Amino acid sequence: MQTAPQFQVVDGQLLGARQVASPNFNQRPENTEIQLIVIHNISLPPSQFGGGYIEQFFQNQLDWSAHPYFKTIEGMQVSTHLLILRTGEVLQFVNFKDRAWHAGRSSYLGKIECNDYSIGIELEGSDDQEFEHVQYNVLAQVVATLQKAYPKTSQHLAGHSDIAPNRKTDPGPHFRWDDFRTQLHKQKQ
Ligand SMILES: [Zn+2]
Repeated sequence: MQTAPQFQVVDGQLLGARQVASPNFNQRPENTEIQLIVIHNISLPPSQFGGGYIEQFFQNQLDWSAHPYFKTIEGMQVSTHLLILRTGEVLQFVNFKDRAWHAGRSSYLGKIECNDYSIGIELEGSDDQEFEHVQYNVLAQVVATLQKAYPKTSQHLAGHSDIAPNRKTDPGPHFRWDDFRTQLHKQKQ
């Protein structure tokens, strides 16, 4: 039995997500179709969860003096479309129609600048810890919703480490692609 859909895309916004505006976005190049979903992990400070620092970071409101690690990322202006917290709560920072700054130098199937044509989803997590069960569940629901709204993404799902292999390791060794794909498949039935 399927429960009623929790998420819906309307006008580039994910209903069911808490909307938090990030200033870190620009327009996608003209005539660019959304065709890739990129999965990431992030935690601030690294491997610590909660505290609201990621949210502040994506809004350029992080207090760089609050932790020594923050000094190393001081002034960075980045964003993502979606962030899924450890609790399963989903935050949207950038409208899907706009270009979020999550991938950096990257290429997918020979096509560079993945930010131009992708949707970024950050999971609150790290390369050294398991993700929460609820995060997989919510991620599967969200990705199924996005694939319906942006059909070209159905064939193209990648980790940050897949599109920037020399720079990035996320979503990391604890992200269970098989489990995720199984849950995603169930969502689409
Ligand atoms: Zn990443």
